[in-house]
Amino acid sequence: MSTEPTPNNTPVVKTHFQDLNLAPPLLKAIEDLGFEHCSPIQAESLPYSLAGHDVLGKAQTGTGKTAAFLIRVIDDLLKNPITEERYAGEARALIVAPTRELVIQIAEDAKLLTKYTDLKIHTLVGGMDYQKQQNRLHNEFVDILVATPGRMLDFRERQDVHLDTVELLVIDEADRMLDMGFIPQMRQIVRYTPRKTHRQTLMFSATFTEEVMRLSEQWMHEAKHIEIASESVTTDNVEQHVYMVAGDEKFTLLYNLLNTHGFDSTMVFANRRDECRKLHDYLKAYGIKSGLLSGEIDQNKRVKTLDAFKSGKISVLVATDVAGRGIHINDVSHVVNYTLPEEPEDYVHRIGRTGRAGSKGISVSFACEDDSFRLPAIEELVGRKIHSEVPPEELLTSLPEPLTPLPVQQRRGGSSRHGGGHRQDGHRSGGRGHSSYRR
Ligand code: AMP
Repeated sequence: MSTEPTPNNTPVVKTHFQDLNLAPPLLKAIEDLGFEHCSPIQAESLPYSLAGHDVLGKAQTGTGKTAAFLIRVIDDLLKNPITEERYAGEARALIVAPTRELVIQIAEDAKLLTKYTDLKIHTLVGGMDYQKQQNRLHNEFVDILVATPGRMLDFRERQDVHLDTVELLVIDEADRMLDMGFIPQMRQIVRYTPRKTHRQTLMFSATFTEEVMRLSEQWMHEAKHIEIASESVTTDNVEQHVYMVAGDEKFTLLYNLLNTHGFDSTMVFANRRDECRKLHDYLKAYGIKSGLLSGEIDQNKRVKTLDAFKSGKISVLVATDVAGRGIHINDVSHVVNYTLPEEPEDYVHRIGRTGRAGSKGISVSFACEDDSFRLPAIEELVGRKIHSEVPPEELLTSLPEPLTPLPVQQRRGGSSRHGGGHRQDGHRSGGRGHSSYRR
């Protein structure tokens, strides 16, 4: 443990992974990831979970909750190797999460944390080759099984996998499981595992609703409840910039940053759906391969867009806060706040998309006459002053001709301005009064 001053000079105690008596191969993998100390959810939950208690944790994406439960699971599996006879398909740890994306992300994190071990991780999600997954289950031991509820049951019901050997059960994003109607399936899965006094159960949820509490009582044994403040999202790894610009310079600035400043994989956030759509259309017209994630895009299309972004087919993802929250993408090099969010918490969530897995990330916010007044509240939340810069003139003025005609923009409220903010007439224009559209 050590103490470090916070921005307002209140000392906080940091928990270091070296002090948790973790299995050495696990500790080494954590060091490789560059995690210097525990995030708040880790610091609060690990002392209980490592001691074998059930833990109900309130934490959102971006807080380090995945590593919080994975570290417990991996440490336990390493310290208690199976000495008696063992069969293929018998799972030791089961992690259930509501979406395919989340399961894949958890499994990827688990692979990084088990890289110095021979623990076997299996992923069961829809859309993946069933036969291949089945063959692996038949031929290999199953140390950690990560699955969505429906797929989990399919495999269990065909007897490809056995859950009566589960020592640790993790239920991630319990509130989303409820929202998505997965509780009946989850109930069945829990029934296949040993009694709650004979397994360790960890459950995480972004909110503690009455239903979540009720489920935790049913599924957990004398669980410790951990809550962390929502602003504890880890942003230490993000270099934050603010560019002071006029509203109609924003698109030119974005175009130039994307083209000349090594913005390899960038998420661009704007506040409203219509802004995002226009921005996406503009980027396309200027030959920048971008994808759109907003409430108006259906789920299938969103998954395709995410896959294209992850595989590098597109390098820019334009998103609203609602659509951008909860998505798991590693290695976003940059986050751009094309408009500053109305809620300071959204700023933290946005920039938390970069600087993940121990790497450094960069966030660039465009503050103009319409939204710079939101900066002080953001600075208060992140606990530091964010240095504002005036961007170099050439980034604000040079914009080539578009490759295809620009989308025709509809007039709204008497203004003929377009969401892209591209300077058409050389005048700086306002553009207030657009805050009531749905995200
Ligand atoms: P999660 O809340 O699980 O989605 O994690 C958010 C991000 O924080 C992930 O990219 C992790 O790699 C990263 N992370 C987790 N724990 C730590 C830590 N102790 N220090 C720095 N980054 C971390």
